Order: sequence, then C-alpha cells, then structure tokens
Amino acid sequence: MIPSPKNLRSLSKADLQTLFAEWGEPSFRAAQVYDWIWAKGVHAISDMRNIPTALQAKLSAEYAIHPISVTQAQHSEDGTIKNAVKLPDGLIVESVLIPTEKRITACVSSQVGCSLNCAFCATARLKRMRNLGPDEIYDQVRAIHQQGMEHFGRPLTNIVFMGMGEPLMNYHNVLTAIEKITQPDGLGLSPRRITLSTVGLPKMIKKLADDGVKFHLAVSLHSARDEVRSQIMPINDVAPIAELREALEYWYRATKRRITFEYVVWKGVNDAPEDVHALVQLCKRIPVKVNLIEYNAIGDERFQQADPEALEAYVTALARIGVTAKVRRSRGKDIDAACGQLANKTLPEGLSPMPA
Ligand code: SAH
Repeated sequence: MIPSPKNLRSLSKADLQTLFAEWGEPSFRAAQVYDWIWAKGVHAISDMRNIPTALQAKLSAEYAIHPISVTQAQHSEDGTIKNAVKLPDGLIVESVLIPTEKRITACVSSQVGCSLNCAFCATARLKRMRNLGPDEIYDQVRAIHQQGMEHFGRPLTNIVFMGMGEPLMNYHNVLTAIEKITQPDGLGLSPRRITLSTVGLPKMIKKLADDGVKFHLAVSLHSARDEVRSQIMPINDVAPIAELREALEYWYRATKRRITFEYVVWKGVNDAPEDVHALVQLCKRIPVKVNLIEYNAIGDERFQQADPEALEAYVTALARIGVTAKVRRSRGKDIDAACGQLANKTLPEGLSPMPA
C-alpha cells in the first residue's frame, strides 16, 4: 500500500530545518517553505515558485498540503456570510464572516461537532467527531480574509473562536493556530484582536494564564446560579460557578485583561431578580463586561427570548456596580449563521444534525 502523503503543515519551522539539513539542502529552504505554507497559503507544493523542481518532487513524494475548501457560502441580507467548510477528510464545519462598519470579523470553528451538550445550542445536536488541526483553523481565517477583500474591499480585523466546538478542549491545536495567525510570517494579526470563547473550563483557563497568552477571553456564562446553570449546561456539574470564578480571578491576576461574559436571558429560566442578583455578585469579584446576546431559537420550546424589561433589569443592576452590559443583536439569522445556530443544516445526510 502506498502511504498517504503526510501533512506538510504538521511540521514546525524547526522540523523543516531538520528535514532539509538531513536532505543536504541549504538551511534557507526551511524559511522559504514555511513562508509558502503559512503566509502565502499555497495549496500545492508545485506552486512554491522559488523551490527547485527537484526538491518540490522530493517533498511531494512524502508530503502534501491538505487545504480546506469552502463548498458553500450563504450571504445574509445584513452582509454576514456563512461558509460550509469541507475538511480534507470530507467532514464539514462552518465559519462566519461578520462585517460591521469598522471590522471584518471571522467566527471560526475549533471542533467538528461538540461534546458539551448545552441545551440551547444547535451545535450540541451534532456528535463531536474530532478536533480541528491548526492548519484547518488557520485556513478558515484565511478564507474569510479573502472574502473580506473580495466582497467588502477590506482585510480581516478580528477573530472570535465562537463557531462549532469548545476551543479549550482542543487546546494545543487552537493555540498553535493562533500562533500562526499572529506571527509576522503568518497572517500578522494582533492577538488583541482575537477572542477565545469557552464554556468555562477552570483548569484550562488557568493554563491559558500560565502560558501567557495575549488574546481575550470570553465565557459563556448564561447563569451565575449553579442550580440554573447545571440545568442548561451540563459542564456546570463538573465545573461549578465557584471553581469557574476562582479560575477567572486567576486569569485576571495574571493577564490584567477584562473577561467578557456571554449571557442569554430566557423567559422563566434566568429572568428573575435572584438571577440578576447572582450575576451582580459574581461581577463584583472579577473585572468583566457582559454581552447580553439575543437568543436564536433552535426549535426548543423551553427556551424563549426574555422580555426587554428583563434585559433592562440586568443592564441597570450591573450599571449600578459599574459593569457595562450591552445587548447584542444577532447577525446572519436569516441564514442560520448566528450564535448557537451552526449545525450543518444544509448538509447531505449523515452529517445532518441529530433530531432534537
Ligand atoms: N464552546 C464555546 C464556543 C461556542 S461560542 C463556548 O461555549 O463559548 C457560541 C456562543 O453562542 C456561546 O456563547 C454560546 O453560549 C452561544 N449560544 C449557543 N446557542 C445559542 C443560541 N441558541 N442563541 C444565542 N446564543 C447561543
């Protein structure tokens, strides 16, 4: 059996240097190849114009570049674009381009499906199949950068890890992707323009702080009361509020970077005065801002967007302790591109969401 070519982009710069040294090639080849596979983002070894043909052939005998392909791009009336991204093994994830006046934001996926089972999220209906590789994450970002140029004449400005999957359950690959995205010989984007959103895994949040990351952290909180949060987010049984709070305090001490809480308010779930009170108490302990996200219905009767008065109660109570809470309208709803709606709805059988 002919072994399938190895992924060239799984090699680090040091790996490339070692490889070319073994092959008796000049050491600058490593930097050239690295530049082609990351900064220039070629899809084929034969496109590396300054690499001699003989070396291209030698590389191609063992390695290949496995690029993603955007097989479908749906355009929302508000400008948002949702991509179906086909991975080299045929699995599909989704990514979203969100344009605003000043920004082009890429919302990217970190896993195929998700294992967290949050009751209100459409992605939870997809089985978690596997983690994405650094190259697969990087390619989503690159594709959106190109779409930004093509459709809006503007480059990518921000990235949010708010697509499918839990980025902190794919820690190594997500951080490697961010390293490639931020390094000058990658996309050169500032880490301050990247936000990683997590369901809130205390150990991994502390690890981020210890690893000295420079990007922002957002936490999908949705309730500051264990009895409520556990009902809608099973992870809370393993990582209850007190533990999460302790990890967030640790993060802030280490990074001095304010955390964002993502919070949806649902009728009869978390719209009571005690829910507001619990969030206020938590926010007194950690410097945060709160994004009150509009609920995007996923066809579950238990969840209904709360009344505007309920949102107002949160905003007012938080303002009283000096915490900014903004109500965020969703983008791309008409094409199921909004928060929590990524579920491969338009896909062929076998990859379609499991029934609710
Ligand atoms: N696993 C990570 C990344 C997903 S981000 C995390 O949990 O943060 C997706 C964001 O959309 C999360 O804040 C999630 O809580 C929110 N979300 C999920 N379903 C939603 C829905 N139906 N309506 C609005 N927001 C939703």
